Parts: sequence; structure tokens; C-alpha cells
Amino acid sequence: MKESQKETLLDNLRKICKLNNLKLTPQRIMLYRELLDSTDHPSADIMFKKAKKKFPSISFDTVNRTLLTFSRIGVVSIVEGYGSPRRFDPNVIHHHHFHCIKCQEISDFVNQTYDELNVPDDIQNRCVVFNKKVILEGICEACKN
Ligand SMILES: [Zn+2]
Ligand SMILES: [Zn+2]
Repeated sequence: MKESQKETLLDNLRKICKLNNLKLTPQRIMLYRELLDSTDHPSADIMFKKAKKKFPSISFDTVNRTLLTFSRIGVVSIVEGYGSPRRFDPNVIHHHHFHCIKCQEISDFVNQTYDELNVPDDIQNRCVVFNKKVILEGICEACKN
């Protein structure tokens, strides 16, 4: 991600924290920056390892709670349906996922046809759909070879 793009997202984070009466501590900024640099949908454990390099005294609990706070205020999302541990996604722009069942990699892709999938009548009549997300499961290129 470009540095200018990151600055825009950080500005956005500042505003959202303010709206939610959250203090934007150096630890929170660092964690958000680390997330923006991650394309692998990291777990809290992986984020903890990254965070410790910058803030050696940070605790796992702080990292985990911060990530959950980020997801509550909508600046990251929790990746759905891959079991535990929870995985976090800094990409809140609409996209779909490919999940490798061997190495557990989750990669992003965009696809207009999937965005426009019809919602089954039964669901349409009973519920309100906000978001359509397709998850492809299989074996990634690296694992295949
Ligand atoms: Zn794989
Ligand atoms: Zn994603």
C-alpha cells in the first residue's frame, strides 16, 4: 500500500476514534499500520509477534483487545468462517476471499459477477442483505506445486 494511501486511512482512523471517544495511543497507531502492511489476514498471535518488535513490553491481551476494538468501530473486519484463531482484515473495501485449506492462506480478490449474485428468494423475503461475500476454498498455487 502506498504511503499516501496509508496516511488517508490513518486520518480516517483518527476521526473514527474521536467519534467513539477512543484515545489513539502510539500502540494503536502501530498496530493499525502493521495491519495495513499485512496482506495475509493475520491472527492476533501474529500481530502480537509483529507488535513486540516495536513495543517489547506490549501484552497479547492489549493487542487482542485493540484488534477487537478496531473491528467494533469498523476499521478492520474479522474474517468469517475459517475457525479459530480469528483472522483480521484491514481491507474494508468490498472483496472476496480465496482460502487455501493446506497453508491456511487467505487472499483477496474482486469479481463483479460475484458482487452481483442474486440473493435466493427465501432469504430476500425474510431478511435484509447488506453484503455478499464469496469464499472459494481450495489449494493455492504455492501448495499445488
Ligand atoms: Zn496454500
Ligand atoms: Zn480480505
